[in-house]
Amino acid sequence: SPFATLPLPAALLDSIKRLGYEQMTPVQSASLPVILAGGDLIARSRTGSGKTAAFGIGLLAPLNPAFLGCQALVLSPTRELASQTADALRALARGIGNVKILTLCGGTPFGPQAASLEQGAQIIVGTPGRVRDHLQRGTLALDRLNCLVLDEADRMLDMGFIDAISEIIEATPARRQTLLFSATYPAGIESLAGRFMRDPQQVVI
Ligand code: AMP
Repeated sequence: SPFATLPLPAALLDSIKRLGYEQMTPVQSASLPVILAGGDLIARSRTGSGKTAAFGIGLLAPLNPAFLGCQALVLSPTRELASQTADALRALARGIGNVKILTLCGGTPFGPQAASLEQGAQIIVGTPGRVRDHLQRGTLALDRLNCLVLDEADRMLDMGFIDAISEIIEATPARRQTLLFSATYPAGIESLAGRFMRDPQQVVI
């Protein structure tokens, strides 16, 4: 079905139109009603399904550009994926204005990231190790987070990020929304969801 059937701000619909998206992909039409209603979601879907726009639209719709603290955090397994995701989110945010999207990945100097955080960023996309470093050093606060996205969660667990992910989640408000995207659904994902998600709706595409 078309994106115009969703209750989205006009600026976001404009961005979607400018990207040339007309019909929702299956993962988008199954997940966006749940996401926009504020519910937790587990989506089994892979790259190429349109999952980035699904959570991107979900986290941009309720965003408050006037508040500069971190409102949405996307955790990604690699810096390549984090950087692609940040680019996709910037394209979706273009119509909204004053949305700052910052990537926080390892292998990049810490100081400039800390300086950017000080300027404020409503959306952060990062790898779990570096995001945890910023929390531990006090350069990042997640106490005003509304939405947490765990992207390619199975790959993050394979890479040994479970402790970093758990520590990050514990620094976020209990009443946040949590969206988990994963190509596979091994036991580790089930236990992560059991510990950190509230009545998640499951979508299998
Ligand atoms: P992803 O699964 O997030 O890696 O996205 C795969 C590709 O699909 C990206 O190049 C997106 O730009 C594109 N895409 C996402 N949603 C739509 C849509 N509704 N219509 C057409 N292309 C889309």
